[in-house]
Amino acid sequence: MKDSHSNIIEVAVPLPLDTTFHYRVPPELRGAAAPGRRVLVPFGRRTVTGYILGFGTDEGRELRTIVDLLDEAPLFTLRELELYRWAASYYLHPLGEVIKAALPAGINIQSRRGSTGHSGGELTGGRSVRTETVYRAAAGAMERPAPRGKGAQLLAHLRQAGETTTATLRELFGDCASPLRRLRELDLVESEAREVYRDPFREEAVEPDSPLPLNAGQAAALGQIASALDAGRFAPFLLLGVTGSGKTEVYLQAIARVVAQGQTALVLVPEIALTPQLVNRFRRRFQCGIAVLHSGLSDGERYDEWRRIRRGEATIVIGARSAIFAPLERLGMIVVDEEHESSYKQGEGFRYNARDLALVRGKIAGASVILGTATPQVTTWHAAASGKLTLLELPERVNGMPLPPAELLDARGQRGETLLSPLAAAVADNLDRSGQTLLFLNRRGFATWLTCEECGHVLRCPNCAVTLTYHQRKNRHICHYCDYAIPAPSVCPGCGSGQVTLLGLGTEQVEMRMRERFPEARVERMDRDTTAGKGGHARILRRVAERKTDILIGTQMVAKGHDFPGITLVGILSVESSLNIPDYRSGERTFQLVTQLIGRAGRGENPGRVLIQTLTPEHYALTHAVAGDIEGFYATELAFRRDAGYPPFTYLAVFYLTGTSPSATEAESDRLAAHLRDLRAEQGGRIEILGPVAAPLAKLRGRFRWQILLKAPNRSALHRLLLRNQRTYAPSSGIRLHVDVDPVDL
Ligand code: ADP
Ligand code: ZN
Ligand code: ZN
Repeated sequence: MKDSHSNIIEVAVPLPLDTTFHYRVPPELRGAAAPGRRVLVPFGRRTVTGYILGFGTDEGRELRTIVDLLDEAPLFTLRELELYRWAASYYLHPLGEVIKAALPAGINIQSRRGSTGHSGGELTGGRSVRTETVYRAAAGAMERPAPRGKGAQLLAHLRQAGETTTATLRELFGDCASPLRRLRELDLVESEAREVYRDPFREEAVEPDSPLPLNAGQAAALGQIASALDAGRFAPFLLLGVTGSGKTEVYLQAIARVVAQGQTALVLVPEIALTPQLVNRFRRRFQCGIAVLHSGLSDGERYDEWRRIRRGEATIVIGARSAIFAPLERLGMIVVDEEHESSYKQGEGFRYNARDLALVRGKIAGASVILGTATPQVTTWHAAASGKLTLLELPERVNGMPLPPAELLDARGQRGETLLSPLAAAVADNLDRSGQTLLFLNRRGFATWLTCEECGHVLRCPNCAVTLTYHQRKNRHICHYCDYAIPAPSVCPGCGSGQVTLLGLGTEQVEMRMRERFPEARVERMDRDTTAGKGGHARILRRVAERKTDILIGTQMVAKGHDFPGITLVGILSVESSLNIPDYRSGERTFQLVTQLIGRAGRGENPGRVLIQTLTPEHYALTHAVAGDIEGFYATELAFRRDAGYPPFTYLAVFYLTGTSPSATEAESDRLAAHLRDLRAEQGGRIEILGPVAAPLAKLRGRFRWQILLKAPNRSALHRLLLRNQRTYAPSSGIRLHVDVDPVDL
């Protein structure tokens, strides 16, 4: 006799397998087994954690019995499962691994504890607790002798601000461990270790504000979004407007309607650490619960925040890529700000694109989805032009300031001092007028390579196919991919000659040259090396906002959505460092980068100026960006894509094969390509199979990399081929194989 319905469950396990499994539930757990809960199940000789997907029948099979049921309540809803299933199928990733990636890692800390009965020192109730020291001025401390220097500043701050955490003090005063110790010894300051719920976006109190009266463009955009919301159906929009055109105000007012309807909203931003201003605007506007999922959270904190959302205590969630899986119910709207940013793409493991999943989730939830940007992806532009997205345009900046004029500086044949001198002259000019300057260069470090003039030897990473970047402050040559580092050699390691030259300008060198040239100016650098600590970005940005910085030098970090009203000169150095990447999207990227940087200048009362140093002044991405001709750029780019057979006219997937043996990796690539060609022959159709070729980064962290590109005229043909390959091909041992659907880098 068959078991009744709820005795058999279907389970996904987080292992690289494309099937699910059925298990029997023992009588004592029967009532409690439900989709969305986790289970411990026997798997081969192991016990693994799996996710209950639903119920099943035994169909006469011998089924194993689950070991245990975890969690008090389901971790995901059936709607969320629908999203996971969609993603697993679309990205050809095992469902169990998709679910694991979608749930916060803190849950897994709990499950390890649960399954072994062992509790790590700082685990309580399944979450890790962070304690932090808070400081306050001691009562009656006024009478004691006053300290000097940093101690005095710290004490003054504590008297005024009350209790302050170490993190905040460090942010305000830099390293202050020893003055704090001294203050404590003098009994001027008391400290206490506390369990803290740490959220850098919550510490500051904010003044509430109210909606602004909208201009005509904003009102029209909001009107269209509002009617979609009232209809309660999936509706995707492209909100097109330069920085400062009032997009965020439209998001805020649209979300206010969502909240008023008793629904929830999800706001995705490219990188949350870079957008404290945006988070604050939401906090000022809304009194309802806002959860912020950002990279500064520990696993335990992230899990806490996730549970708050799950319990329905957050109405608005703001977060980066992985927040697309935030467990919001009654979802009414998803905003994807700066939709063109490549950080929405997860580059390893489960390779999904949160921007694309936003549309899928919106469809499942019947929500509106707003993709906001000044520089949409070419594919997004095309989707709007062909009516798949509704185009909402904000044609002007709110303050009526025109975009600053931009000029191209021809850098052909120039090097060293002469390369920098036209920019330096403009900086001098801008300093005279007390303007702030932003210098953008997409390469950190001092110099990108070292070469010997005698024998031509170049310092390279032994693990990766790249040169080592010289970092002056550390006096080391460092690999930016694997962190391999060596002390700077004084002679050529190849021939012993002393004639070694550093080439390729990096941000550290630009900073040094600016300091030399303008000793009285306040120069700051913002790149991965200067923003390592928590709050590093915020500190630098605050000084720029308070006009304590005259010249800010930075990598792409500075190109993202910051508001820099005092910046009246933007200089872009070596724009080709983004153009020459051998990728069909390099034109698009360059156009986006330059247009975004133009938007950074002259947002305050003073008109700005933008100078772009280039070796290819005739490139269409640059000429259109400088002319502010967005339509012209997209027309040219789409014509190129159509001719060359790239998206939106084709659908792409790339197979990557990596291995430690160059010959075995190449041979495996040949075998896979042949297999794919056989499958194509069986299937028929016009899928192009290009390669195998060595990947542009031919070696990374000791592994050789090959790739095979698939271009298909339609998505279903591509998907069919990928699926059949997944079921019929297994790589040889030692070779790792993964497929990237809709790759953003080639
Ligand atoms: P974006 O998101 O496109 O960069 P914002 O919404 O941040 O644009 O608007 C730019 C600036 O203009 C902000 O300081 C914002 O407060 C202000 N602003 C936006 N809309 C209005 C409006 N309708 N009236 C007055 N000021 C506005
Ligand atoms: Zn040499
Ligand atoms: Zn390396």
